Amino acid sequence: ADAVRLRGVSKRYPGGTLALDGVDLAVRPGEFVCLVGASGCGKSTLLNLVAGLDAATAGSIEVDGDRAAFMFQEPALFPWLKVGQNVEVPLKLRGVPRAERRERAAELLRTVRLKDVTDKRPHELSGGMRQRVALARTLAHDASVLLMDEPFAALDAMTRDALHDEIERIWLERNLTVLFVTHNVREAVRLGDRIILLASRPGRVIEEFHVDQPRPRR
Ligand code: ADP
Ligand code: ADP
Repeated sequence: ADAVRLRGVSKRYPGGTLALDGVDLAVRPGEFVCLVGASGCGKSTLLNLVAGLDAATAGSIEVDGDRAAFMFQEPALFPWLKVGQNVEVPLKLRGVPRAERRERAAELLRTVRLKDVTDKRPHELSGGMRQRVALARTLAHDASVLLMDEPFAALDAMTRDALHDEIERIWLERNLTVLFVTHNVREAVRLGDRIILLASRPGRVIEEFHVDQPRPRR
C-alpha cells in the first residue's frame, strides 16, 4: 500500500481561488518526496489536506496508518512551557504516564542532538535549536509519515545544512515517509528521492524527477 495517496484532488477556497486542480500523487512507504513550486502554487494547501487540517473540494486522500505528523516553518513552540514539556505535549495528549513521558522527551532531544535544554524556555534558544525542538516534538507523535512545510526556510544557510543532515539521518534511522514542501530547488535536490514540481494557478503536478542520492548507510 502507498503511504500517502491522492486521487483527483481539487481545492477551491471560499472566495473562489482554485488552489489545486486534479492532483494525483502516490508516495511509497519510506520515500522522501519533495514538493517544489513557486509561492502560491498550492503546496501548503496540499499538505494541509493530507494532514486533514482542511477538506478537499473533490477527490480522495488516503494516509496509511492513523497518524501523520506536521512540522511548520515556524517552530510554534508553547512559550510558557519548558523545552522538555513542549516535546512531551503529543505524549501527554495520548495519555502516556509522566515518568515515561520524561524519558521519551529526553531520548527525543538526544535524537535531535540537543543537550542540557530540557528546563530552558524556547526563547532562550537560537532559531536552529528551536527548530530542533520542533522536530523532536513532531517525532513524539510516533507517526510513520512526516509532513514538513518549509521547515527550514527561516534559518540561515549553515544551520539549514546541519538540519538537512539531521532530518536525513532521522528519516533513515526511523524508516519514515517524508513529504517535504519547499520553494528551494537546491534543498529539494539535497533531500529528496523524488522531486515533484507543481505549477501555479491552479496548482497541478507538471513534472517529476528521481534523484539518486548518496545516502549515509542505514
Ligand atoms: P504555496 O504554499 O505554494 O505558497 P498556498 O497553498 O498557500 O500556496 O496557496 C495556493 C493558493 O490558494 C494561493 O492563490 C493562495 O492565495 C490561495 N489560498 C491559500 N489559503 C487560502 C485561504 N485560506 N483562503 C483563500 N485562498 C487561499
Ligand atoms: P544555531 O545554533 O545556529 O541555531 P544549531 O541549532 O544547528 O544552529 O546548533 C549549532 C551548534 O550549536 C551545534 O553545533 C550545537 O552542537 C551547538 N549547541 C550549542 N548549545 C547547544 C545545546 N544546548 N545543545 C545542543 N547543541 C548545542
